[in-house]
Amino acid sequence: MDKRKFIKQVGLGSAAIMASPFIFTSCDSSSDEEDFKMWMWVGNGADKTETEWRNQLTRLSELGFYGVLAGGGVETLKMTVPIAKSLGLEIHSWQWVMNRPGNKEAMAHPEWYAVSRDGNSSLDVNPYAGYYQWLCPSKPEVQDYIIQGMIDIAEVEGLNGVQLDYVRYCDVILPRGLWEKYDLVQDHEMPQFDFCYCDTCRGKFKAEQGYDPLDLDDPSQDEKWRQFRYDSITNLVNRIAKEVHQRDKKLSASVFATPNLARKFVRQAWDKWDLDFVFPMIYYQFYAEEIDFVRTGTMEGVEALAGSKPLYTAQYLSEKTSEDIAIMVEKAKAGGANGIAFYDYGLLNDEKAEVLSALKK
Ligand SMILES: [Zn+2]
Repeated sequence: MDKRKFIKQVGLGSAAIMASPFIFTSCDSSSDEEDFKMWMWVGNGADKTETEWRNQLTRLSELGFYGVLAGGGVETLKMTVPIAKSLGLEIHSWQWVMNRPGNKEAMAHPEWYAVSRDGNSSLDVNPYAGYYQWLCPSKPEVQDYIIQGMIDIAEVEGLNGVQLDYVRYCDVILPRGLWEKYDLVQDHEMPQFDFCYCDTCRGKFKAEQGYDPLDLDDPSQDEKWRQFRYDSITNLVNRIAKEVHQRDKKLSASVFATPNLARKFVRQAWDKWDLDFVFPMIYYQFYAEEIDFVRTGTMEGVEALAGSKPLYTAQYLSEKTSEDIAIMVEKAKAGGANGIAFYDYGLLNDEKAEVLSALKK
């Protein structure tokens, strides 16, 4: 029997559901069909009525989903958490971290934004897309603002956890499959996409290492400057983790496909973060890879984590056939994933849902 349904039937509360990943992953769970968990991102948090939320979460519960990564702030969560709990679904709050487009509080502090190597603030010049407005991870005021926001979320009663998204730098290099879309050949790090060169970041780095990255002939080749930026994000994530864990909530993050690619493209050293589980977005088409990249990418992440935490392979439902869905699930399993997460609910038509339902049975 499906364990989630079992827990629901015997009437155990959320504590048992929350504890289940740790009970079952301690004994090679990834090979156990029953433990392969399905997650779904469900967005447009504040724009939906309670009835719409209830209908969508009910459908996911009936399809055998384990949990949802739900959009919306504190007020929306107060509505959605009880619904998810009544259906036996885990619910984690989906939160954007460093990229904060149109954020009123941040915009009142223009100095909070990340600065590119060619000197532009991400508030004024948006790299790649209009919704790209990145904050600087080194400024104490930015860190305090982000952490307080996560504390407010983590204090929502009954919530299972917080899931971090955009917890990284702006893409210094885009995955290969996206170059044509932006008419770019990114065979090296370009100054307009390379962050953060604000006074705070450069000053902090200089105090530690004795030189300013802007004085280097080619900052992209400097190992210490790269490491400084991996650490800036890692330190912030680990501070968030401490606060979230103090409130008895889980912390997870959606990250780039593999630890190596995540470092190279967006300076995420996610295998070093204090997370409870991780969602690598192995969107193979973005990387101009075949579908087998779902398996090999998953394997890389599983090996890097070395059993320290569950890994749920994230997949993008756009431009996928029902057959693709079935193959993605098989590839994620073959790579050793503990489950799969789909982005997003709006792309789950009946045909795709039927495939997932059949796989679960
Ligand atoms: Zn900075």
